[in-house]
Amino acid sequence: QNVGVVTADMIDMLSKKSFPLCMQNVHVHLKQSHHLRHGSRLQYGLFLKGIGLSLEEAVKYFRIEFMKSMDVDTFDKKYSYGIRYNYGKEGKKTDYTPFGCMKIIMNNPPATGDSHGCPFRHFDTDLLKQRISSQGLTKEGVETVMKYTKGGHCQVACAKYFELTHGISDSGTEVEMVIQHPNQYFERSQKLLNG
Ligand code: SF4
Repeated sequence: QNVGVVTADMIDMLSKKSFPLCMQNVHVHLKQSHHLRHGSRLQYGLFLKGIGLSLEEAVKYFRIEFMKSMDVDTFDKKYSYGIRYNYGKEGKKTDYTPFGCMKIIMNNPPATGDSHGCPFRHFDTDLLKQRISSQGLTKEGVETVMKYTKGGHCQVACAKYFELTHGISDSGTEVEMVIQHPNQYFERSQKLLNG
């Protein structure tokens, strides 16, 4: 992990192309509602730690958004503990690692109002179609991703979505590499974009 290489002000830009759909979804939810429930704070907070956001920058990032819906004391009392916890500074002081896809797909399904989980597993068909279509995929591309999703192959669907949004394969070919981890998605994207 490269803690310290990503700062709070870079997240918005990075999220657009290099975040997998699961993390992009939490990011958009945070921007819109200025709040995240526990499951999302954990899934997303650990992902951000994994891409290199330091504890100080994580507190800054969440504080800026949460303060649009609450005062700073409420944020510090209710939420900064959880962020420090993710970084091993509270509770059992474990240096938690970001969740892999299997964990996100199989455990703790989101309830109404939650934004964690895997869109390829937990979104309904129309919402997923709408999200992936808005990323500039062709009609065939959308159909291919939906075909894998309907077959229950979430990580293959995610891989196809990755390849189509990064211009490295077309809808008719087999996926090159199945996505196992949201942070793998991010790193692969950054490598392709930055050479
Ligand atoms: Fe996220 Fe993994 Fe689902 Fe892709 S397959 S959206 S990386 S949980």
